[in-house]
Parts: sequence; structure tokens; C-alpha cells
Amino acid sequence: STFDKHHDVFETLGIQKTNNKGVFDGEWSGSGPIVPSINPVNNQVIAEVVTGTTADLDRALDRVAEAQKIWVEMPIPKRGHVLLAMRDALVKNLQPLGKLVALEMGKILPEGVGEVQEYIDILEYALGLSRMMQGAIIPSERPGHIMLETWNPLGTVGVISAFNFPVAVYGWNSALALVTGNGVLWKPSPTTPLCALAITRILEQTLRQHNLPPALCSLVTGGTDVGVSLTADKRTHVLSFTGSTQVGREVGKVVQGRFGKSILELGGNNAIVVMDDCDIDLAARAILFAAVGTAGQRCTTTRRLIVHESVYDSLIERLIKAYGQVKVGDPLDDGVLCGPLHTEAAVSTYKQVLDSVIKQGGEVLCGGQVLTEGEFEHGNFVVPTLTKVRPDMDIIKNEAFVPILHTMTFKTLDEAIAINNGVAQGLSSSIFTTNPANMFKWIGPKGSDCGIINVNIPTNGAEIGGAFGGEKETGGGRESGSDSWKQYCRRGTCTINYSGALPLAQGINFG
Ligand code: NAD
Repeated sequence: STFDKHHDVFETLGIQKTNNKGVFDGEWSGSGPIVPSINPVNNQVIAEVVTGTTADLDRALDRVAEAQKIWVEMPIPKRGHVLLAMRDALVKNLQPLGKLVALEMGKILPEGVGEVQEYIDILEYALGLSRMMQGAIIPSERPGHIMLETWNPLGTVGVISAFNFPVAVYGWNSALALVTGNGVLWKPSPTTPLCALAITRILEQTLRQHNLPPALCSLVTGGTDVGVSLTADKRTHVLSFTGSTQVGREVGKVVQGRFGKSILELGGNNAIVVMDDCDIDLAARAILFAAVGTAGQRCTTTRRLIVHESVYDSLIERLIKAYGQVKVGDPLDDGVLCGPLHTEAAVSTYKQVLDSVIKQGGEVLCGGQVLTEGEFEHGNFVVPTLTKVRPDMDIIKNEAFVPILHTMTFKTLDEAIAINNGVAQGLSSSIFTTNPANMFKWIGPKGSDCGIINVNIPTNGAEIGGAFGGEKETGGGRESGSDSWKQYCRRGTCTINYSGALPLAQGINFG
């Protein structure tokens, strides 16, 4: 079994084959259904987790709030030291954690390790922030007055995460939530509970070593019921949701209904525009990574390729050749670039999308097969695929979380931008060009309407220093770098009068 084969990984990370407790609120427990974690390479059970219930969540929310009261007393640079210790613990466990991500989610090992590295990076960023979270001092129109802004924690940040980044999404949120003085409650994807257990255990150990209440980083694994309760609960001051647009739309309404704050990181439908003046080799290499990496299961995966008609044939020829060399297989094997899809349901989605492409008048240029023979027999393996479509086809309007890249042509940059912007989602976008005029148009007011607007790099693979997130049906949230930390805070506008008199604003004379 997967568990026996990778026993060292599970032992290092404190995971058993059965009876893993899936709730942490200072102590480990769990009174919900027993849920298996499945290896997408062979659809066999890796290990079982006793998940949480809404009653477990109710208790955990109180425990987080108690822990936060202690945490918030700690000077911010001291909090930074605790985050540094968390970072060191992750560095020590980088390889086993990366392997666990590969085993449970199905992404290739370098991407699994890379995902844990993102968590390490954001903890370093948060350490820096712990000395730099500055507020503004604002000129006052009144004599003897000063105005300033304060940024204080909101309390508890609830994190609901998707299956495709079972570590990094929580990492981004927890690092910033903690440094700003909040407690965190995590509801991970029901299909990646083991990653959540392993991470939470590492945080628990670090908090205990610092004599801090470990409930500060609480965990309730479980399904929709736990997610729904966490969303509706007033004790969740910020709800950071990463997942599909369909679920995010409901989550956003519920949080708004109770005047909570939400950060929504929803689906993408990302495009690359290829201009006739670009470096075609560079573009082809970027497109391969952007469309095939993580087997097409990144929110930033390139799904639409918009190519100038004069370079379409030569680019497609290169891509077909490159796609032909992509090794599909076990994500832990050397040289494999494309692992399995996370679930069997995604294989059905893959087939449905290809059927629709044909029905709507498109064609499959390469790939298009589900792999079922030999080592692929029991897993969720498909061949990365290129199609040729027209920009007005319905099939390219929705995000399908599979490695299918729809290609199409354009004549002018304005037309390419209109195609890029012509979908409901607005996460990531890239242009390949060597012409500065094209670059500046692309990033300007008449350019890409996405949250991530790249030039000569893929749509995926963001660095943690920038704010990450998207517009329109991607939800509008921003996480990670820049000033994203402010979303985990309440802003206070403070006016201090040291004049001894009472001059009023706008020169008003009252009585
Ligand atoms: P999903 O929407 O099915 O599930 C996400 C999470 O929501 C899970 O933890 C799930 O248990 C929980 N959930 C389900 N119903 C809920 C409800 N009614 N209330 C509260 N929580 C509920 O998404 P998924 O299939 O796990 O992930 C894939 C999707 O996530 C894709 O659309 C992808 O683009 C998106 N995603 C976006 C980003 C981003 O930053 N924009 C990053 C990663 C993934």
C-alpha cells in the first residue's frame, strides 16, 4: 500500500494508517465521519481520518478566540520570532511534506516541494512585516491635531481551502493572519486532510515550544457542513475562501449577510496572448509549463491561448512537439511532468470538455486520450491536450480543471485583449511580446482586466511578494504580498487633539 511504501514520510509527519484525529483545538479529537485519503495514482486508500462535526467546530472557535487573547498581547516583532520558528520547522520537514502533497494531491514532487517552499517564503515575508507594518500619519486641517491610522487584528480568520494547493493557501493566510495578531481556524479540502494534519502538527509543536496556546492554529477537517457553519459563524471575523466560483458566490453572500469580511479566491480562466513580435521559443516553453503543470489543476493554469494568426502555425507545431514529449505518470517518478488528475470525476470532466469542443465545431490537435492501460489502469491519468476553437464558443467560457488548452487566432492586439477580457473570470493573464508599446497597453486601462497581468512569463507560478488574486468572478480578494496583510486587520482612523481648544473640521462654529 501507499502507506507502507512511504512509511518514513508518514512516520516523520506523525500520520497513522487509521484513526488519525482530524480536529485540533489545543487537543486532538474528532467525532465526525471517518474519511479516507485517496492516492490519485491508483485510487487506493492512503490513510483514514476521523473528521470533525459542526459541534467540534463550535468548540474550536471558542478555543481559537481564547488563544488569540494571549497572542495579541505579544509585541509584533516577537510574533515574528515565532513565525521564524515555524519557518525553520517547515524547512526541516520540506522533503517529507512535499512528498505528502505529491501523494495525496497528485502533483509532481518538485511542485509539491515548491508548494511547501511558498509557505516558507511567506513566513519569511511575515517576519519582515513584523518590523514594518506601518500606519499612516495624515496632515490635519485643525491646529494642534494629529491624524493617524492604526491596524489592529480582527480576531479569528477562518480559512477554507481547495484541494489543489493543500499547503500553500493555508500558508499564505495563516502567516499574515498570525503576524497581524489573529488566531486561525482551518477547514481544508475534504480530499487532502493528511496535508492539513501534518502542517497543523508542526505548528502545534512550535507554539508549545514557545509556551503559546496551540489552539491559535486550530483545524477542523470535514465536508460542506463544517464549511457552511464556519462561513455563517459570527466568531469568524474574516473568512478567507479559496475554491470554485460556484461555492464562493454563496460563501460571499453569507459572510456579507452578517457583515463579516471575506477574501474570495475563486476560479480562473486564464489566457496567454502571443504577439507576432515575440520570442517564440520562450513563449512555447512558458505555455507548456502554464498549461500542463500540475496537470492543469492550478487556478492560474493557462486555459486559452490567443495567438497572432501569422505565428499560429509555427507556434502550434512547436507545442505539439513539446506536448508529445511530456511524460505522464507517477508524480514521484523522475522525469514525469504530468501526474494524475486529483479525482475520477475530473476524468469525466476531461471527456465532456473534449466532446463539447467537437460538438461546437472545434478540433483536437493533440492528446485527447484517457490512459487506462498498464501502470495507468487504476489511476486518473489523461494526456495533456491542445484544441483549436473559435473565441465565440461556449466551451471556453467556463473553467474546467483539466489539462486542456484551447487555442485560437487574432489579427490585432485590441481583438486579443477583447478575447482575453471576454470571460466572466479575471484571475491571471500574460502577453508574449518584445514591443514596449504592446506591453504598456496590456498593463494599462484598456489592457487585461485580470488581477495578475504578466509580460513574457506564464500565467502561473506567482511569487509571494505581490498581491495574489483576481477580478470579476474570481472574487476580488488579494492574498500574500504587497499590502494584503491589511485585510486581516481593522483600520482605525484616530484624530488626537493636543491643542487645548476645540476647533471643528470644515471650520464649523457650533454655538
Ligand atoms: P470547491 O469549491 O469544491 O471546494 C473548496 C472548499 O470549499 C472545500 O474545502 C469545500 O469543502 C468547501 N465547501 C464546499 N461547499 C461549501 C459551502 N457551501 N460553504 C463553505 N465551504 C464549502 O473547490 P475545489 O474543487 O476544492 O478547488 C478547485 C477550485 O478552486 C477551482 O475553481 C480553482 O480555480 C479554485 N482555486 C482558486 C484559487 C485562487 O487563488 N483564486 C486558488 C486555488 C484554487
